Amino acid sequence: MATDKFVARHIGPRDHEIDEMLKTIGAESMDVLIDQTIPSNIRLKKDLRLAKGLTERQYFRKILDIASKNKVYNTYIGMGYYDTITPAVIHRNVLENPVWYTSYTPYQAEISQGRLEALLNFQTVVIDLTGMEIANASLLDEATAAAEAMIMMFNSRSRAMAKAGANILFVDEKVWPQTRAVLETRAMPLGIELQFGNWNHYTPTDQHFGVIVQYPNSDGNIEDYKTLVEKAHLNECKIAVGADLLSLALLSPPGEWGADIVFGSSQRFGVPMGYGGPHAAFFAARESAKRHLPGRIIGITKDKNGNRALRMALQTREQHIKRERATSNICTAQALLATMASFYAVYHGAEGIKRIAAEIHSIASLLTQEIEKLGYQQLNENYFDTIRFAMAPHASVDLIEKYSLELKMNFRYFDNGDVGISIDETTNLEDINWILEVFARAACNEEPEIKDIPDICTIDGAYLRSSEYMQQEIFKRYRSETEMVRYIKKLERKDISLTHSMISLGSCTMKLNAATEMLPLSWIEFGGIHPFVPVDQAAGYHLLFAELKRDLAEITGFADISLQPNSGAAGEYAGLMVIRAYHQSIGEQQRNVVIIPSSAHGTNPASAVMAGMQVVVVKCDERGNIDVKDLKEKAEKHKETLACLMITYPSTHGVFEASVVEICEIIHTNGGQVYMDGANMNAQVGLTNPGLIGADVCHLNLHKTFAIPHGGGGPGVGPIGVAKHLVDFLPTHPVVQTGRKGISAVAAAPWGSASVMPITYGYIKMLGSDGLTKSTEVAILNANYLAHHLKEGYGILYTGEKGRVAHELILECRHLKASAGISELDIAKRLMDYGFHAPTLSFPVHGTLMIEPTESESLQELDRFIEALKEIYKEIKEIESGDVDREDNVLKNAPHPDYSVVSDTWSHSYGREKAAFPLEWVRDNKFWLSVARVDDAFGDRNLICACGTPEEYELLNK
Ligand SMILES: *Cc1c(COP(=O)(O)O)cnc(C)c1O
Repeated sequence: MATDKFVARHIGPRDHEIDEMLKTIGAESMDVLIDQTIPSNIRLKKDLRLAKGLTERQYFRKILDIASKNKVYNTYIGMGYYDTITPAVIHRNVLENPVWYTSYTPYQAEISQGRLEALLNFQTVVIDLTGMEIANASLLDEATAAAEAMIMMFNSRSRAMAKAGANILFVDEKVWPQTRAVLETRAMPLGIELQFGNWNHYTPTDQHFGVIVQYPNSDGNIEDYKTLVEKAHLNECKIAVGADLLSLALLSPPGEWGADIVFGSSQRFGVPMGYGGPHAAFFAARESAKRHLPGRIIGITKDKNGNRALRMALQTREQHIKRERATSNICTAQALLATMASFYAVYHGAEGIKRIAAEIHSIASLLTQEIEKLGYQQLNENYFDTIRFAMAPHASVDLIEKYSLELKMNFRYFDNGDVGISIDETTNLEDINWILEVFARAACNEEPEIKDIPDICTIDGAYLRSSEYMQQEIFKRYRSETEMVRYIKKLERKDISLTHSMISLGSCTMKLNAATEMLPLSWIEFGGIHPFVPVDQAAGYHLLFAELKRDLAEITGFADISLQPNSGAAGEYAGLMVIRAYHQSIGEQQRNVVIIPSSAHGTNPASAVMAGMQVVVVKCDERGNIDVKDLKEKAEKHKETLACLMITYPSTHGVFEASVVEICEIIHTNGGQVYMDGANMNAQVGLTNPGLIGADVCHLNLHKTFAIPHGGGGPGVGPIGVAKHLVDFLPTHPVVQTGRKGISAVAAAPWGSASVMPITYGYIKMLGSDGLTKSTEVAILNANYLAHHLKEGYGILYTGEKGRVAHELILECRHLKASAGISELDIAKRLMDYGFHAPTLSFPVHGTLMIEPTESESLQELDRFIEALKEIYKEIKEIESGDVDREDNVLKNAPHPDYSVVSDTWSHSYGREKAAFPLEWVRDNKFWLSVARVDDAFGDRNLICACGTPEEYELLNK
């Protein structure tokens, strides 16, 4: 049945509407439009070699079959990943809820108050549990968070230390192996030297700038680092502590014994292991470091009427502004997973979290007693959840492994023959008896039977926590499921997501995240797998990875793909490191210059700096194209040291530059490689590709082009594709073989955000070659349809040689500032009154809005959006003509929150109806805003990034 076809569900306009739209924009056919849009020298001559699209039902069977090939065992490996119970109320109402998973990073604070509150709660939990002063709203994973800590400490060296060339970071040898590997990757290009060793033997010198330790450490030991902290601080060294968030419910937090930074993973706060990710890392520091903290910070401020409001704070630290002076390239950062962890904390409260931690420790203690009785020696003095055993006299690791696999269990096996067990929230009486059975059998001993779990605490009192945490109201109110579901709903009503209206954020590709693509995410066969299990237990995953890599290689025209990077920016970094390794392999290690167009996304220069490269900016001409002459001059000038070009294609200006092939040739001629930022792949798939164009590496944002939802700012998946000569340099992993000898790891987990890969897999399998190509065509058509209707009045900043835009367009607003005093910001805020999320604001050109409709938006939605923008244009004209006051008008006062519209006092020169119902159809599905325009400057001056504090009370009464 034709109606069964997924493509008809994925694509917005019906076929007859596509014909109409083509007519409207003056293109005889889709082929003609594409010919006018994409230069002929880069068009694919053949269809993609991909299977035909499956129906949703066919795909469902296929993915069910793949899932059944994964084996879900009880896993006690630990090493930063633990089984956990996602409360069903959170699973169903957050993880499976498109309001939460389809929303965007909360740049537009007024329509994001719900997720901002959830993320503020996350920060509050982190600050309280770590005992620190400030925290951000998540990073990509624990290992990259360690790298961010290293870089932050390095950059905050005193002037004297920097002058003395202090570049050594001491890292305790008992950090996770994946943390160590990522530190190695990230340290090398920055000239940071890592010194691994036992922290007891650390001797500071004037060459040391910092120390990293883990608490509890990789063996499971709780160490007393107080003297270490003193030693480091006496020597002006900073100290960062990787901590287990749950353990801090019992243990004295690093903030109380002097740590400067505390980082780790929040995975075990209700986020499934998912074969390695996605999960949110946390990062906390001292107040004095607030301007150096990587990632997003959510802060409290006021709206323009003085009411409490939330927003992302200190945006001036971001790469978009700092460019090559940026100190971190973090953009997308696992927000949905941080949101889940925060709800987990809200639902359990302090006493619940403490009880979970105490039970875990009791079980570990009980197992210690019982297993020691069997003749094994437990090696940890003080431990939380992880115990390490030396073999009993007659036992062997082989037997333990054999028996445990028979009972569907995984332990950790140390190189020296010791066995490790990490207990988690799911471990129950039955599991305990199975564990004992294995250890008893392996030692030829009688198996004890445990009938209940007593409360035991074996931790030395000196390590125990006495301070309180999570005492704010928010962590006390929502214990019943009824209260919890209402709290989640209350927050989600404050947010615009794709369930409300089109989100036309240029460069972000907010397309459909189809329910069928999302469903497998809920299955334990994908969620319940630890990343370090024997690979045969993840056979389904590996089948999926292999096919996905093959398909993505076909789509990009490359030889191979690495799925490890867990965001677009992480992909950029990985790609640049691959290029660096390649140059080194051919004896060209001096190549470290990267050419980046002025229009590039802020993460490009930031990633280049992280990869130790020197940025040279190339200009764009008045049409928005790279100035080829300037490029050529710069490439030739740096031909001895040119490492690569970073180019976005079609450009961030929304055009397919005809000169792209020539540009790639210039770079190659001068010894450089071409790195393509694939964020705009949605304009390429099936019609052209990076390999064909001449790129050597490209990252894909699976959370843009390939249907993974944005989750309010993550999950992210940023795989890289590479040409043949670079395949050997793709990232490896220290724990699980990825079959290569390339650069060391760029992420904690071997396959990055593994559990969301089925989304992209489903997207490709259900659309197939034809559907993918049609999606690209309709994305381009939708953008050109908008451009056609908006070019009069506003104006479109850039078009290609034949007058067409690619899959996005830049709306000119600067003349409106001149004529009516209205900025792109005012227009963005006014769109909220119409129920729309603003397009991308002031990027890549100030004074403009960048609009990307995607193929998923229907003709009626596009028409609504056009009507809204045209009505706003009329509102601006009224100001221009003097009919309406230049200050007191619907744009300057936008958005209009519910409380002001219903207020008994209304002093504006226009009516309430005009404010809230500017067009008739707005009434039908009104999005009621909870706050007026937020005051960013006020919040930045008074940074508060936790809720329920005395400082907040004081601030709001200022
Ligand atoms: C989104 C985007 C990135 C960064 O991707 P993240 O996943 O947010 O790190 C890089 N370049 C461009 C052009 C983008 O649009």
